[in-house]
This record gives sequence, C-alpha cells and structure tokens, in this order.
Amino acid sequence: MIELNKKAAWQQSLTNLITDPKELIALLGLDASYAPKALEAAKLFPLRVTRSYVDRMQKKNPNDPLLKQVLPLDIECKTHPDFKRDPLQEQLVNPIPGLLHKYHGRVLMTLTSVCAIHCRYCFRRHFPYAENNPGKAGWEAILNYIKQDSHITEVILSGGDPLAVSDKLLMQFTEKLLSISHVKRLRFHSRIPIVLPERITREFLAWIETLPLQKVIVVHANHAQEINDEVKQMLVKLNNADITLLNQAVLLKGINDQVQTLIELSETLFASKVMPYYLHVLDKVEGAAHFDLSLEKAKQLHDALRQQLPGYLIPKLTQEQAGSPYKILL
Ligand SMILES: *Cc1c(COP(=O)(O)O)cnc(C)c1O
Ligand code: SF4
Repeated sequence: MIELNKKAAWQQSLTNLITDPKELIALLGLDASYAPKALEAAKLFPLRVTRSYVDRMQKKNPNDPLLKQVLPLDIECKTHPDFKRDPLQEQLVNPIPGLLHKYHGRVLMTLTSVCAIHCRYCFRRHFPYAENNPGKAGWEAILNYIKQDSHITEVILSGGDPLAVSDKLLMQFTEKLLSISHVKRLRFHSRIPIVLPERITREFLAWIETLPLQKVIVVHANHAQEINDEVKQMLVKLNNADITLLNQAVLLKGINDQVQTLIELSETLFASKVMPYYLHVLDKVEGAAHFDLSLEKAKQLHDALRQQLPGYLIPKLTQEQAGSPYKILL
C-alpha cells in the first residue's frame, strides 16, 4: 500500500465531523421533527461538531447543554433589530487581512478560518473568513506589522481555531515570530482542547514545551459536562508542559445561566488546572437572540458566584464593545 497522505489521527477526525443535522438527530435519538428546521438554519451557518463532543451529550435530551450549543434551530432565522451581522465591527480594526489590532500591546491574528465546531452563538458566524484568512502568503505583511511596532509584546492566535492547523504550520509560523525580539508571549484562543482533545498529541506537547516564549492557551468551555476525563487528563498535560491555561466562557440562556452550573464549571476547570478568566456577555450577533440574558441578570449571576466561590475561581464578567480600546468589565 502506498501512503498517499499521512494525516495524524486528529486530522482524520477533523475531516470526519458531524455536519448533517439528520445524522446528529439520529445519533442522539431525537425526534425527527428537528431535522427540517435544523437543515433550514444550517443554511445560515452550517452544523459542525466533533464526534468526541457529541459523545458527551445525553441521549434523547433536546435540552442537553452541549447539544444546544451546536444544533441549528429555526429561531436563528428570525432577525431582531438589536442583533447585527458584525456586532463588534471588527472590520474597522483590521489593518491587514488576518490581523486585528484593537488593544494595546496585543495583536490578534487568524491562522485559519476553520473551527472544529460551530457554536451557534459565535459572534463571527457571519464574518467574511474567506477574505480574511491570510494564509501563508499573508504572513509576511503581518510579521512586518508586528516587527514595526515594539509595543506589541503578545501575539494572540485566534479563530477560526489556531489548533486546527498542523504542527508543521505552527512551527513554521512561530519560527518567524521568534525573530521579533519584542514579542514575549504567544497566546492561543482555542476550543480544540475541549472539543477535540486528541489534537494535543505527544509531539505537540514536546514542541510547545520547548518553544522559547511564554505560552498561554485560553480554552473555551461553557459547561462542566464538556470536560470529561479525557479532556481533563489532556489539560493536566498541557499544564505540565509549562502552559498557562485560562478559560473563557459565554453566558448563554438555557445553557449555563444557573449559579450552580457556573460554580461547577469553575470548580471543574480548576480541578483540570485551568483558571476561569472571562465570562462574556453574549455579543449581539444575528441569529443568537435566543441565548441572550439581560445585563441585570448577568450581574446577578456573577454576584451570586462571588458569594459562593473563592475570588480566584470567579471569571471576570465582560462585554465587548465595538470601538472600545479594552473589554468592558461589568
Ligand atoms: C479579547 C481580545 C483580545 C485580548 O484581550 P485580553 O483582555 O488581553 O484577553 C485581543 N484582541 C481582540 C480583538 C480581542 O477581542
Ligand atoms: S470561533 Fe470559537 S466560538 Fe466561534 S464557532 Fe469557532 S470555536 Fe465556536
């Protein structure tokens, strides 16, 4: 047999995602009446989810907190005056394709437009990724931009999902980055450790451990049920590889809008060596209105958390505002 392409197992998994709502509905034993609505809503933003993540969902439960994050629903098709296609107006802080420079000292760049999962509430669900994915050809312009601004001490790789790219590509990019002496920190914003833990291979761990930068991975889990034993063990390995682990979550109606749910999330993260970092108020993106909670309710929940958890387990409640030079703390 000739080996045509030597894809790693995790890369195979990325090509074997669940993208057909009918398959998801059948796998979970849900009522077939969900299918036509899901197919309709998937035209706006396709279904995409890893098999590993689906394995953590409870069968026959349409209210499963993981399922609700990925199953397209017909209510997404309704427009709402306050919910916009580009709520953060990111296009305004987009100096060159693939680069966002919004906050002092940090730039955010996209290595790929691919995610391993499509979260229905994602503020980038309408983002013109195809036009904004620099690819390797765009690296030079980005690296030059970073080189010319010595205030930039941190590079954030964001999404798409930066861990969806191969180790080889990560190595090539970081090698170039290492030549810019004012860059001290490399941060990944990635949902992959949560939704595709097999991606964090021994090879990846060996590489990142020795990369001569300060490394941060901000993972993204919204509910403790997302963190099964496999995810937990992998997070501990990342921690052992000298990576600072933080979590960002989004406050979502019907998913994690209970004090007890948020307590369990913080405690499970901490038991997995991850510090709660941000709890984002939903960005008002078209199609996600049904996940929205009032600011008042968000603050109440956050206050209730503060009454029950040590300070270090309280994520900062934040809101992104178009045009603001920092995230708003609530
Ligand atoms: C959130 C965000 C960052 C990082 O902000 P921190 O407060 O450092 O976590 C950087 N750039 C953009 C565009 C962001 O949205
Ligand atoms: S960018 Fe993050 S939140 Fe948005 S769909 Fe991808 S994984 Fe989900």
